[in-house]
Amino acid sequence: MNVLVINCGSSSIKYKFFAMPEGKVLASGSVEKVGESESKSKQKSAAGEIVIEEPISDHSAGLAVIRRMLTDPEKGAIRDVSEIDACGHRVVHGAERYSDSVLIDEGVLEGIRACNDLAPLHNPPNLTGIRAAMELSPGLPQVACFDTAFHQTLPEKAFLYALPHEIYEKYRVRRYGFHGTSHRYVAKQAAEMLGVAPEKADLITCHLGNGCSMAAIKGGHSVDTSMGLTPLEGLVMGTRSGDIDPAIIFYLARKGFSVDDLDAMMNRKSGVLGLSEISNDIRTLCEQADGGNKKADLALDIFAYRVKKYIGSYLAVLNGCHAVVLTGGIGENSTAMRERILSGLDQIGLQFDAEKNQAMVGCGGAISKESSPIKILVVPTDEEVAIARDTYKLVSKEA
Ligand code: ADP
Repeated sequence: MNVLVINCGSSSIKYKFFAMPEGKVLASGSVEKVGESESKSKQKSAAGEIVIEEPISDHSAGLAVIRRMLTDPEKGAIRDVSEIDACGHRVVHGAERYSDSVLIDEGVLEGIRACNDLAPLHNPPNLTGIRAAMELSPGLPQVACFDTAFHQTLPEKAFLYALPHEIYEKYRVRRYGFHGTSHRYVAKQAAEMLGVAPEKADLITCHLGNGCSMAAIKGGHSVDTSMGLTPLEGLVMGTRSGDIDPAIIFYLARKGFSVDDLDAMMNRKSGVLGLSEISNDIRTLCEQADGGNKKADLALDIFAYRVKKYIGSYLAVLNGCHAVVLTGGIGENSTAMRERILSGLDQIGLQFDAEKNQAMVGCGGAISKESSPIKILVVPTDEEVAIARDTYKLVSKEA
């Protein structure tokens, strides 16, 4: 079964095309700057690389270009669109409706639409992508995989905010959590690496990329996570503040900042970018810090300190665990950040191995000492293959 996995953002479409159940990547690519005059589309496959520079007016036009690239007679992966057997879509918010991936029908489209106001930047383009894929090949099975689904196992004590209860009842304001597909995928991989059954694995997973989140996983289920109603809560991120005193918002609002100003500030101008006044990119900040830039150094310290605090808190939640797992662009590649985060935790059972850490870049394995009571693992994430697997499972069950 050939599965096309689509991640549709507001101005971009990323995709990977898999042969399932092997999980072999037949092609991968992206369409950037949808709706702008200088759109760029590219694809890589065993047959070669394609780059197309032509304006792409909307997501339907983007999907049509993806179809063209996939079926390119010289450098494509298939001859005809009929060789696509199913589509899997990343959908950011499934609220309390979806605790697993689902086959899409009109009811599911309506359900995703109902979550739009919880993720106004993400769910509408996700929906547009699904509609465009449906138009591309009518009758093709489509599956939705939700970023929030894995965290639907959180107990009430972890997902309720201490606000008047009616705020939850009326507005469904609660912790949902995100990056669920990644946390679920790396947790399963980590359990295998540890030789522990997935349903017995107690783990703290850290997805550290542009967006950053952590999860406390008990017996394979997410029992707490750092992102909340939206992806703004929790860790310090590239441009997001993570946890702050909510009263800062009232204070600044009274000083004349509008809701939109504050939203933009906390989501797009804060985090390590705001602190350093240099960049949201951890690589750049590490270089600057090495060169003596104090603000860059402090921003990285604040980032690492927040992760440390969450590790401590989740160790208490889980009453100890098998391993702390690192993933995402930073978790997988940044030896310097891993050292800042994980050194000095030996008294709570995490014995960081600096040498193993240096050697572990772009691959998976342990970076803790052999004697460490709690292991520290680097596990490269692969959200696309996780979506392809869910799609394969649901579609083959239906067939
Ligand atoms: P996204 O959340 O957009 O998927 P990624 O998971 O790719 O992002 O993570 C992006 C972050 O990873 C950036 O801050 C980048 O600096 C960092 N990163 C990627 N590669 C490296 C590397 N080799 N060394 C240090 N940091 C890296």
